[in-house]
Amino acid sequence: MVIKSAEFICSNTQISKLPPPVKPEYAFIGRSNVGKSSLINMLTGKKGLAKTSQTPGKTQLINHFLINDNWYIVDLPGYGYARVSKSKKEDWNKFIQTYLDKRESLQCVMVLIDSRLDPQKIDLEFCNWLGEKGLAFVLIFTKADKQSAVKTDQTVAKFKKALLTTFDEVPQCFITSSEEQLGRDEVLGFISQVNTG
Ligand code: GDP
Repeated sequence: MVIKSAEFICSNTQISKLPPPVKPEYAFIGRSNVGKSSLINMLTGKKGLAKTSQTPGKTQLINHFLINDNWYIVDLPGYGYARVSKSKKEDWNKFIQTYLDKRESLQCVMVLIDSRLDPQKIDLEFCNWLGEKGLAFVLIFTKADKQSAVKTDQTVAKFKKALLTTFDEVPQCFITSSEEQLGRDEVLGFISQVNTG
């Protein structure tokens, strides 16, 4: 897919104020610092589109970016802040879960996983929640340039194995590096395929 345009549309703290659900959208989510903003900028080819390295625990926003005038990248707040209070975590859960559960135009949840780490409980729990809700998702392993391809493959295999304890089959997986533009065609190709049905 060629990205002809990518524009920031809005930031929301309220579900009721989201754009009308008339265009397909893809929600990007992962632990804080997983490389989500960098990935969105790499996919769109626009460096400052998503703000990188936001301070954890700040206002939780849902950001909509309109791509080629016909589909949205949705940047969801990162999860797993160690220093956030319990009540803030609960607010986060409610806000995001409501969005994911109710958004009619949501096509797929793009779950970002740090390719350097062994399966993390919070990521597995989130995938299991998506599974329970029957939401379609894929896994995007980030920062693959930080280690050897063999090590990345091992992380992916471990994550798939962990998922197979609760899922019958594993979702599609993408290996990416925003630093090296790795995985861009694959992720955009997947979105293009879903968009065209
Ligand atoms: P976010 O909090 O998930 O939006 O993560 P950011 O995109 O802000 O990235 C967090 C940190 O990881 C920043 O210092 C980035 O420069 C770095 N980073 C993100 N993606 C990559 C990548 O593909 N390779 C490398 N080497 N560093 C990355």
